[in-house]
Amino acid sequence: MTPNRPRALVLVSGTSTEVGKTWWSAAMARTLRSQGRSVAARKPAQSFDPDDATTDAAVLGAATGEDEATVCAPHRSYEVSMAPPMAAAALGRPGFSITDLMTELTWPADVDVGFVESAGGPRSPLADDGDTIALATALAPDLVVLVADAGLGTINAVRLAHDAFGTLAPVVVALNRYDDSLTLHRANRGWLEATSGLSVVTDPNALANRIVEPGVASFR
Ligand SMILES: [Mg+2]
Repeated sequence: MTPNRPRALVLVSGTSTEVGKTWWSAAMARTLRSQGRSVAARKPAQSFDPDDATTDAAVLGAATGEDEATVCAPHRSYEVSMAPPMAAAALGRPGFSITDLMTELTWPADVDVGFVESAGGPRSPLADDGDTIALATALAPDLVVLVADAGLGTINAVRLAHDAFGTLAPVVVALNRYDDSLTLHRANRGWLEATSGLSVVTDPNALANRIVEPGVASFR
């Protein structure tokens, strides 16, 4: 059992890398904080292109009011754009396990909503011995937010990623940059909801409200 487990623990994953996980996490965090909720975010490991202007942990920390080094421990931040365990190996740094990431995952007391942003997609390497599904198994989140592109190809990507989570937690699909004026986006959303029976959201503010009102249990 994680000490100081937030009242609602939300794992943010995605169909792939660069699909909007950090943007959605930060947007939800800002909405919740503006309502007086206590929010924290954690990025158990991150890797990035050293030419990038900012890191995920910096963006998340700006949204939650936490220090970047609190969001992602500096020794789990890898300045090469490969999956974190591969980046660690490429940089000659020590390897790490899913258990290491879980052990390092700490929270302040009395957090209403805690966001854990993973890296890549559910089956991307997250540690030497596991992926986001392994992290989710250890974490037992109340909700998984699966961020996905809204355009062509997303139905296959969403269904495969959704299936990977099985019955670990309720999964809500967040269509990033959804534009209701586009026939393709509307058709994708409709298929995911009606044919695949998935829960789909397109607005981080609306999703943030559903997390706390009336509670994450409503996703089950
Ligand atoms: Mg990110």
